[in-house]
Amino acid sequence: MLNAGIDIGGTNIKAALVEVSGDPRIVAKTSFPFGHMPCGELCSSIARAVEGLLKEQGRAISDLGSIGLTVPGSLDQSGDVLLHAYNMGYHNVAVRPELAKHFPDTPVKMINDAKAAALAELKAGALKGCKAALLLTIGTGLGTGIILDGKVFNGGTGRGCEAGHLPFRDGDLPCTCGRKGCLEVYTAATWIANQGRTLLGEEYADAKAVREAALAGNSTAKAIIDEYVDNLATAVAGLCNVIDPERVALGGGFSYSGDILYVPLRKLVAERNFYKAEYEIVPARFRNDAGVIGAALL
Ligand SMILES: [Zn+2]
Repeated sequence: MLNAGIDIGGTNIKAALVEVSGDPRIVAKTSFPFGHMPCGELCSSIARAVEGLLKEQGRAISDLGSIGLTVPGSLDQSGDVLLHAYNMGYHNVAVRPELAKHFPDTPVKMINDAKAAALAELKAGALKGCKAALLLTIGTGLGTGIILDGKVFNGGTGRGCEAGHLPFRDGDLPCTCGRKGCLEVYTAATWIANQGRTLLGEEYADAKAVREAALAGNSTAKAIIDEYVDNLATAVAGLCNVIDPERVALGGGFSYSGDILYVPLRKLVAERNFYKAEYEIVPARFRNDAGVIGAALL
């Protein structure tokens, strides 16, 4: 079956056609800048992108089983309204019904982006077969997906879970949510980029650039990465205390950093979790496609 998956990120929107029978496979994809447009314009752009992909593949809208949309924020219980997406500047916006107007004969569903990624990893990726698992997506923020009883955990009213906004430091750096000292401020890739810019200069205002400098022997860059891993380890250990996951997967660009990330992280998490357990911590499978694949699997 062919489904469409749309992933709205902080800066870009990705759209893909995904063959979901068996192992999910992207048939065609495209992306365009988000540009903070209002909801009507956003949904028209998404509809054009999906129609363009279908045309390119010689397919019609009637060939689609469903259209899934991921958003970087919390949803209401109906799954129609995006309650808060701070990175998008959207609050209480009925995004799903607006998109559905463009596709009256196709089911349109909406889900939080981290949950979509968790769904993709659970169904066909690094968390396949897990009853209890944790996915953290390291990006502009820190996305959280929790698997409980073999399903993506949704919370009591469909909003859960936002581990990125657990209090982490007292009265410290401001978070996009309006509070200070939230976990994601210290564990998003943005933290590494900000430290790089401050301590190394503008050309290091990027997590990847800081990691490459650390690997090349720059001691300041290495100290930034070490402090970052220390922050992340405290977060993962704390979440392991609550969930006791069979596996922890890390997604987002920085999660594919190899030993410089995973060797110290596994050691610190083992030292800091309540059970002193050696949790399995692995990179997620779907990299940048987790959102569109999760959306298509909805
Ligand atoms: Zn926050």
